[in-house]
Amino acid sequence: MFNALVMSKDEDSGKASASIKQIGLEDLPEGEVTVAVDYSTVNYKDGLCLSSNGGGLVRKYPHVPGIDFAGTVEASKDDRYKTGDKVVLTGWRVGEAHWGGYSQKANVRADWLVPLPEGLDARQAMAVGTAGFTAMLSVMALEDHGLQPGHGPVLVTGAAGGVGSVATAILAHLGYEVAGVTGRPETGDYLKSLGATSIVAREELNETVKRPLESETWSGCIDAVGGPMLARVLGQMKYGASVASVGLAGGAGLPATVIPFLLRGVNLLGIDSVMQPFDNRLRAWQRIATDLPMDKLEAMVHPAVLSDLPQLGADILQGQVKGRVVVDVN
Ligand code: NDP
Repeated sequence: MFNALVMSKDEDSGKASASIKQIGLEDLPEGEVTVAVDYSTVNYKDGLCLSSNGGGLVRKYPHVPGIDFAGTVEASKDDRYKTGDKVVLTGWRVGEAHWGGYSQKANVRADWLVPLPEGLDARQAMAVGTAGFTAMLSVMALEDHGLQPGHGPVLVTGAAGGVGSVATAILAHLGYEVAGVTGRPETGDYLKSLGATSIVAREELNETVKRPLESETWSGCIDAVGGPMLARVLGQMKYGASVASVGLAGGAGLPATVIPFLLRGVNLLGIDSVMQPFDNRLRAWQRIATDLPMDKLEAMVHPAVLSDLPQLGADILQGQVKGRVVVDVN
């Protein structure tokens, strides 16, 4: 028997709530690989899955959330993995449609796993987690579209959050000037310690677009916020520059005009971490091991245990989590 954070639905109220339960291997969903989970984490989507209505993502209860985890293979029916291999999992709707990482053991498909790259342990991999992995995918997409250091500042929105913190540290390490947008001025020193060269107050960019083009300011952008802020940023991009659209912490709408695309050749790049093909996953994790300074990563980490998760889920939905939470499930 082992511990898992199980969400169960109360039939009368229709609301789901979490409790730590002892479950057995026979309770886990089917999967080719059984992983002894070392660490999981808390992403924005975990906040949704931990909420009383499952955020529209969880359809079936009882459910074990946790959209990512890192651990050690305990048993495998697939030739690609053997007992003792260190692995990481993000995406594939694990923790939403399939039971996830808030458990001491998980059963998953071999296709969903990535071997941990040299130089990264399970705790560091979850300090990165889906948020940091997505930040790396965004950096790669911007580079593939021509981003290079020395052409002006790169904007990171939602900078003190998980995606934003990792994006800031990677970009700074690669030699970019980074401007971090935050609604929490008290995180300024933290963002500078990660390598941000300037801080932009959220209010400066949160207003609806009045002029479709403003002065050309940013050579690239990683946007975790969406909504009116993304619309504003599009009009401030330099000629031919790209925005990686990652998140919707500020809204799913896009009250923009097409003018920045037509007159400045601005590119809007969609970033999806969930269905990302294996080769690109491997590339991103290898780049994380080389391009994310581990001392900066450590500065982002807040340790937690399974019993902290309900509160942390609510906190992240309120934009109150700074950096990355690492959950020791054992
Ligand atoms: P976090 O909550 O850690 O970060 C989001 C940050 O956005 C907050 O810390 C806050 O930063 C800022 N923010 C919050 N609310 C608002 C608001 N109303 N207006 C403007 N800014 C706001 O979440 P994650 O970093 O884990 O995820 C960020 C986003 O990326 C989420 O929307 C998530 O769903 C999405 N995501 C998408 C993925 C993909 O595959 N495309 C993968 C992973 C995440 P600050 O306090 O600095 O202003």
